[in-house]
Amino acid sequence: MISLPKIKDILGNNDPKQLELLALESASLTRQYFGRTISLFAPLYLSNYCSSHCTYCGFNSHNRIERIKLKPEQMHAEMKHVADTGIENILLLTGESYKATPVPYLLEATNIAKQYFTGISLEVHPMEAAEYAELFQNGVDGITVYQETYDRERYKEVHISGKKSDYDFRYATPERAAQGGIRHLLMGILLGLSDVAEDLTKLYEHLRYMEKNYPGVEYSVSFPRLRTIKGRDFALCNVDDKMFIKIVCLTRILFPRVGITLSTRETAELRNNALELGFTRMSAGSNTSVGGYTIKEEAEQDPQFDIEDTRSVSEIVQLLKNKNFDPVFTDWRPIGNQT
Ligand code: SF4
Repeated sequence: MISLPKIKDILGNNDPKQLELLALESASLTRQYFGRTISLFAPLYLSNYCSSHCTYCGFNSHNRIERIKLKPEQMHAEMKHVADTGIENILLLTGESYKATPVPYLLEATNIAKQYFTGISLEVHPMEAAEYAELFQNGVDGITVYQETYDRERYKEVHISGKKSDYDFRYATPERAAQGGIRHLLMGILLGLSDVAEDLTKLYEHLRYMEKNYPGVEYSVSFPRLRTIKGRDFALCNVDDKMFIKIVCLTRILFPRVGITLSTRETAELRNNALELGFTRMSAGSNTSVGGYTIKEEAEQDPQFDIEDTRSVSEIVQLLKNKNFDPVFTDWRPIGNQT
């Protein structure tokens, strides 16, 4: 495994020649293992109820926003809207409230989502292996769970209360999801919370542990950078574009087969220019508010964070085609895990 000093060395090196070599190797490995394909997905927020207090998030339990969760007919409206754009992979998100969005609620949402999408992932409160197994049996094939930071002290400072403040329970979440049969796991860190090189080293260790012990799972990573919420800074992100690209390229070189997601948190300019370097998945046409696609006017929305790239799915498809990429809508069609 690569050492912390070596990672610090690579991330701290701004010699243009070295950066070019890093980018070329990353781009070449990406083409070798993924060709010129980019999978597209969209997020859909089901609920913003949350019983945790994370200092950087607009849904935190201390933030005075209107709390809503979608009813079945509203789920249909939101999902139909997203499906009509051509998206077939959906990421369903909630705040972390075991009470407001228990497993039966997630199962109901999954059953509705199956009518519109071929791939269904969840980014919700961490659960037990048996609960993941039940969700898998009912059509959930992916789980997204960010450790946010692997620095225990910093973790405690920014996760003030609620279940999310339990570092160890969160750390073991990918393992419980894998034990429950989940096919695809997305892991990651929130860039800007703590020392990047240290967080990256720990993420790589976590990922290697998962790959070694659960080799049947498909893994992806993502590196969201802290964003404003309704224009307000909740924390400063000290990761500039050059550092962000170095992180992506280094990850690709160390994990040639792992998917790397590029989200709409990043600007259109960065998304246009970074496509070649190591990414394999992109979100498109995203909205980060509950009911943000069809139910709530923009002025009434309370986003989890602000989006930078607001282009539609068709604009992203056009971009990919112009750059000679194949946009992929369906990369998974379940045949055995649905009841
Ligand atoms: S990051 Fe998740 S757990 Fe923390 S406040 Fe936001 S929704 Fe709640």
